[in-house]
Amino acid sequence: MNNTVVEIRNLVKHFPVKTGVIMGRTIGNVKAVDDISFGVSQGETFALVGESGCGKTTVANLILKLLDPTSGDILFQGKSLDRASGSEIRQYRKSVQAVLQDPYGALNPRMRVGHIVGEPLEVHGYGRSERTRLVRDALRSVGLPETSDSQFPHEFSGGQRQRIGVARALTLDPSLIVLDEPVSNLDVSIRSQVLNLLKDVQDQRGISFILISHDLASVEHMSHRIGVMYLGKLVELGGAEQICDDPAHPYSASLVAASTPPGRTPPWQIPIVGEVPSAMETPSGCAFHPRCIYAMPVCSQVAPSLTKLPDGRQVSCHLYPDHIGSIDKSASLPGLEFTTSTIGDGGPEVRPVE
Ligand code: SF4
Repeated sequence: MNNTVVEIRNLVKHFPVKTGVIMGRTIGNVKAVDDISFGVSQGETFALVGESGCGKTTVANLILKLLDPTSGDILFQGKSLDRASGSEIRQYRKSVQAVLQDPYGALNPRMRVGHIVGEPLEVHGYGRSERTRLVRDALRSVGLPETSDSQFPHEFSGGQRQRIGVARALTLDPSLIVLDEPVSNLDVSIRSQVLNLLKDVQDQRGISFILISHDLASVEHMSHRIGVMYLGKLVELGGAEQICDDPAHPYSASLVAASTPPGRTPPWQIPIVGEVPSAMETPSGCAFHPRCIYAMPVCSQVAPSLTKLPDGRQVSCHLYPDHIGSIDKSASLPGLEFTTSTIGDGGPEVRPVE
């Protein structure tokens, strides 16, 4: 695709686990990101979804160049960052910005808003008057008065602070913004305001977003495509409506079911069982098999690969193509029900029917 802004190719990030802090012996690796590939086009929102510990934030940190990959490559506007010069890396850092999860912790309480929002401009050598002008433009574009630049973060509400975070990300006129759980620390009543602001900013400026989230409800509202991650791997990749309305992978289906509001019927009534295994000792074959109610003998022996379905999405599951037709997606499993609350850190809960 020639309008691809960023392309991730076979990205891997392993963290060695040592016996001690200093000079310890390596006893294993945490496979935080394990061979994932996707691209993000101009003006597109690509969401990475999964439980805590699935590796989505590590992917974000790799894209932001806060971490170096173990292997694999990131291409920005068709050019590999591996082979980029110092000035090209500086340009990349300018073009790729972030909005972080915690609007309270992300802003230095001792700095005035003008200084916080203008800091990226200062780092990239902009003069004082240019900084003042661009900061005020950015504050206006997120719906804050330009005079906010003389105030301190504690004078703003949580939603306003997140607007300040968005303004800071906009000052350098980026091509891509990584949104790391941008509304999960906000009251439900103001989440949609911030999400609508982000959509407006995208429509006006044609910016691409990579949205990291565990909340499928906000992902569906915002995203064009979704990648579902489990233990460092992508298990499903497809259109946002496609995945939310008709998930193909049992894990995606359980996430959709868990975020379905009470009183509504999920498209595939599938519970998820057990806990997320350690990323140091990922299960053999399909890493999801100890928690999957459809696991077959082959699932614990052979890792499925991401393959394209006739509807265009990609899924990594041995149910395809031969076994999926025999599954009744509308039937709950007897003896189990699952909570309909939004998934939290431990994933959706399953409890016996009383
Ligand atoms: Fe379940 Fe097997 Fe598919 Fe993995 S490959 S999700 S264990 S059916």
